[in-house]
Amino acid sequence: MAGADWSSGDARWTVTVEHTETGERTQRTCGFLYLCPGYYRYDEGYTPDWPGQESFTGTIVHPQHWPQDLDLAGKRVVLIGSGATAATILPAITGTAAHVTMLQRSPSYVLAMPNADPVADLLRKVLPERRAYAAVRWKNARLSTAIYGFCRRYPARARAMLQKGAAKRLPEGYDIGTHFTPAYEPWDQRMCLVPDGDFFAPIKSGRADVVTDHIEEFTPTGLRLRSGARLEADVIITATGLNLNPLGGIPMTVDGAPVVMREHVAYKGMMLDGVPNMAFAIGYTNNSWTLKVDLVARYVVRMLGFMRDHGYATVTPRLPADRLSTSPYIDMTSGYFERSRHTLPLQGDRAPWRLRQHYFKDATMYRGPIDEQNLEFRRAAILQPAG
Ligand SMILES: Cc1cc2nc3c(=O)[nH]c(=O)nc-3n(C[C@H](O)[C@H](O)[C@H](O)COP(=O)(O)OP(=O)(O)OC[C@H]3O[C@@H](n4cnc5c(N)ncnc54)[C@H](O)[C@@H]3O)c2cc1C
Repeated sequence: MAGADWSSGDARWTVTVEHTETGERTQRTCGFLYLCPGYYRYDEGYTPDWPGQESFTGTIVHPQHWPQDLDLAGKRVVLIGSGATAATILPAITGTAAHVTMLQRSPSYVLAMPNADPVADLLRKVLPERRAYAAVRWKNARLSTAIYGFCRRYPARARAMLQKGAAKRLPEGYDIGTHFTPAYEPWDQRMCLVPDGDFFAPIKSGRADVVTDHIEEFTPTGLRLRSGARLEADVIITATGLNLNPLGGIPMTVDGAPVVMREHVAYKGMMLDGVPNMAFAIGYTNNSWTLKVDLVARYVVRMLGFMRDHGYATVTPRLPADRLSTSPYIDMTSGYFERSRHTLPLQGDRAPWRLRQHYFKDATMYRGPIDEQNLEFRRAAILQPAG
């Protein structure tokens, strides 16, 4: 989708669609726009601009553009990054590559979680499928919410537990302080969950190692680091992250005025103040994405039903008359959030304008009655305020 323009006179969006292959543009209209475009750019990952990159004679690969024919057999691989992508790639390629070095500028917290779930297996045996699914979903949501809450409330204890967990899976005397202890508190940035500790196993066996250092420059045969050390490589994988693309990067206007994200406050993390008949699905950053998307979808469906039943044509979130102080939409310090802060909407200081990132609190809010205090509804023909 290449553009969306709202007309209050028609109470409709005109959506511009661009054909991916031909570039041909067509238009269609709709009464309500529901955007589910994820949160990152599919066409382009994030790669910093390192000096000397063009001098490297081996292969450079960004995980978002993984060549189908990439053969790592017997190759020396340097994997740049320390996020979820690097933590996933490392165990996946160590069986093929001769050796993998994960080069990180700064460490992440890595938490090993069991891949099998005996409680879920048991529930599936004793309960009908749907009830078992609901019970397992509830249990997992409770568990991840509890882990997040513990980390935020007791950061020192959480840090010590995470360090202990990593030490247990790494060779004796491994330098956890340098390679697995970030400068930030647990969950200031996203945490890497690794199934059955698969990430640690190749490091323990010597098929992979971790280097914490800064890249000074690319050389024809690898990398020169700030410490003076050199890493020789046949293939360099840049797992350096993604570019956020809030609301699909779709240019929007309301009655001709461009919608500038950072000038709008998000309502319930799913609509923007002053933007009629538009909702978006953005999931949790500290829990399963779909938990939130599910709550939003159900609210949108109920809201549309409410509008149909009352003959309303438009719904627009309106900020309260008393001052609302605002802050960034997502308050994580990860590089990709920092880089994109100016492209995201704001959040307010209280419900329903504040993003709580807490499934169980959100569940109560989203399941409540349709909010006629912060949402302005207008009727079809003359677009008069509700009442
Ligand atoms: C490395 C990584 C690890 C992750 N790990 C987890 C995890 O463990 N658990 C978890 O819950 N979540 C995780 N996520 C978050 C993940 O993005 C979501 O779980 C899920 O994929 C989001 O689903 P979605 O349908 O909302 O968006 P997406 O799967 O991103 O789909 C969005 C779709 O919209 C399309 N689109 C975007 N813009 C436009 C446009 N302008 N016009 C037309 N189409 C458009 C895209 O092409 C895409 O097809 C991870 C994300 C990343 C990048």
